[in-house]
Amino acid sequence: MTTDKYIKNYIDGALAPAVSGQYLDNYNPATGKVYSHLPDSDENDVQRAVEAAGRAFREWSTAEPRTRFRLLMRIADIIEQNMETFARAETMDSGKPLSMSMSVDIPRAQANFRFFATAVLQFGSESHHMPGEAINFTLRQPLGVVGCISPWNLPLYLFTWKIAPALATGNCVVGKPSELTPMTAYLLSKACIEAGLPPGVLNIVHGLGPKAGQAIVEHPKVKAISFTGGTATGQQIARTAAPVFKKLSLELGGKNPNIIFADCNFDEMMVGTLRSSFSNNGQICLCGPRIYVERPLYEKFRDELVKRTQFLKVGDPFSTVADLGALVSKQHLEKVQSYLSLAEVEGGTILCGGNRLEMQGEFENGYFLRPAVIEGLPLECRTNQEEIFGPVVSIAPFDTEAEAIALANGTQYGLSATVWTQDISRANRVAEQLQAGIVWVNCWMVRDLRTPFGGVKNSGVGREGGSEALRFFTEPKNVCVKYG
Ligand code: NDP
Repeated sequence: MTTDKYIKNYIDGALAPAVSGQYLDNYNPATGKVYSHLPDSDENDVQRAVEAAGRAFREWSTAEPRTRFRLLMRIADIIEQNMETFARAETMDSGKPLSMSMSVDIPRAQANFRFFATAVLQFGSESHHMPGEAINFTLRQPLGVVGCISPWNLPLYLFTWKIAPALATGNCVVGKPSELTPMTAYLLSKACIEAGLPPGVLNIVHGLGPKAGQAIVEHPKVKAISFTGGTATGQQIARTAAPVFKKLSLELGGKNPNIIFADCNFDEMMVGTLRSSFSNNGQICLCGPRIYVERPLYEKFRDELVKRTQFLKVGDPFSTVADLGALVSKQHLEKVQSYLSLAEVEGGTILCGGNRLEMQGEFENGYFLRPAVIEGLPLECRTNQEEIFGPVVSIAPFDTEAEAIALANGTQYGLSATVWTQDISRANRVAEQLQAGIVWVNCWMVRDLRTPFGGVKNSGVGREGGSEALRFFTEPKNVCVKYG
């Protein structure tokens, strides 16, 4: 399997350019140069994709679950066999270290297919017995044609996290990856062709969110939208889809707190906190950019965090020694830099990092930034309230458990939270009061695919993962049978 200079849409089982024949540039963030092109699709491409999906639906939805299982496992096998090609493509598109693409992104993408291929074989539904009178049972049927729209930060990982359960439950999919990171979705099209997935079951339309993405959301034959991305985009999607009663799953932004109590295991906490602060340059929705530390530990923590942050090696994402690669785009780099300037205006002190890396040769125009630690910012300021989604953390001390909880809950977001303490009672007490969809205690990013995944408040609506995803992609129908 190989990447190509001109990426194609995958519609009705075939690779094709956009109907308009137009292409967009695809940049390599490490060099700042265009290295490939993707179709600039519009509503005409989406129309073709939805029609193909509609045609494929009857056969796919009524196929034996084992047939779907075998095909999805075959796709997973092909991804696994081509792990390095996929991983190199992911790194080239996103700027993340190859080591991360090889150990996180692509393994997880194939695991998503395996997990949901298998899960659907175990998926049951309920019955409700009315003694002596009737029996109700719940049929869970696929929705039809569904839209799956994903962001650039974990490109294939999040795209397949939606596509796999949608297909496993018998839906046909029109998907759109981020315009910034289209290459692994293109390779996925090739994997589906090689696996023998019937035409139209999965369609991948590349292009701009407000054009191709919006056309998917607006299309009357698309019954549900599973979306991961920014909160403002989620609002726009809800505005479009809610009045026509489409089913919606919205996984949106975050500003996650990391609460560190003085009794924590310091070494484990430091390793975990460095990861939750700067993995993938802080461009993971689950990263913890707001760090609250119990006052007796604060100075020791601050000095150690600054020291370890300064040791992080930023550079060529294909190098084996790089901890951090490039940010995803010039626009995103500028957004992150603007928050660093704002932080100073808001009274913060940048303790380390925040400057653009001076690189030579092919990387001189790459989007590299040194990870930054800021202190001295109040909770209410924009730097602490708005999602930066970059290698920037803000640290502050707290005195009481109640204060820590109030600080943690003090934003519009509620995706995840992390708590470090050796006191199990406190851990449970705090976890119970945190406004978040996911709470990690003494760990971060430990993921079991069976668990519900999603956020509260402005971090989203609905849950993905395990049976939550299988339920989202099926319509429950109650059948009531009265005894004669
Ligand atoms: P965006 O919201 O900008 O884009 C997400 C996807 O939606 C992209 O494919 C984008 O296309 C598309 N899109 C944009 N506008 C529309 C529209 N009007 N209709 C339909 N689709 C549209 O997010 P980013 O790609 O910038 O990703 C970063 C964001 O994702 C962060 O806020 C992060 O927190 C969030 N995120 C949330 C996660 C969660 O699980 N809660 C997980 C990972 C990330 P295009 O790229 O062409 O603009």
